[in-house]
Amino acid sequence: MVMEGKKVAIVTGGSSGMGLAIARRLKEAGIEVIIFDIQKPPEEFPFYHVDIRDDGQIKSALSHISQLDILVNNAGIYFERYLEDTTNEEIDDMVDINIKGTYLMTRNALAKIKERQGSVIIIASCLGLVPELTSPLYCTTKAGLIMLTKCLAQQYADCGVRVNCVLPGPINTPLLQRSFPDEATAVRCAERVPLKRIGEPEDIANMVAFLVSGEAGYITGGAFPVDGGVSSSSLYSK
Ligand code: NAD
Repeated sequence: MVMEGKKVAIVTGGSSGMGLAIARRLKEAGIEVIIFDIQKPPEEFPFYHVDIRDDGQIKSALSHISQLDILVNNAGIYFERYLEDTTNEEIDDMVDINIKGTYLMTRNALAKIKERQGSVIIIASCLGLVPELTSPLYCTTKAGLIMLTKCLAQQYADCGVRVNCVLPGPINTPLLQRSFPDEATAVRCAERVPLKRIGEPEDIANMVAFLVSGEAGYITGGAFPVDGGVSSSSLYSK
């Protein structure tokens, strides 16, 4: 699946929220986008049903793709759970999707990306930098992804492969909407953001489009907040 002269990108979790906005934005930039997800995209994109926890499913889907320039590791899950309330199954789910899935996807895709001197994006979270007491497990997985970005950026710089990480703040997607019990919680969340709004998926998609472009050719190993100022705000400021 290659269009002559075009770059090819895989976006994991590209059927919803941020992933879908990233897929649309990269397509706008003239990139051929392929979605790996466990649910079908709502519109026309080449799609493989891939659970990123499953090494066999990843390898099988990748075997159909001859050229790969860009991997956007976006699929992930979020739930709030205090440490002592977290079940073993919940620990496995969060670690397997957020960490192991990104690890497996990147490990399997790298050979093809190296051939093209391409780039890898990891969608972590501003909660990989600042603690959220109601979700220590989520914060830990996202902090881990920031370190994975740095390790891979160092290791593959010699091959001309760039690896960068984006740290979204609260972004208006189905994931965030599920976490708000009511409208008042959404309003309180927006008020705590220094820029006083919840972000849109396109805010993240614009950063990804920049980081995979030639304009970002000297940028690797970075972890870039796109969070309305959340990760640089002081707890004591108000
Ligand atoms: P979303 O729930 O709208 O979309 C997530 C997508 O990932 C879905 O299409 C889902 O089917 C897919 N997915 C889930 N598990 C998968 C698996 N095992 N294999 C393949 N695909 C799978 O969520 P979103 O808000 O768009 O989140 C995208 C990423 O952004 C996640 O990594 C999330 O942690 C991160 N993030 C979100 C926010 C936010 O406020 N929305 C903030 C910071 C970081």
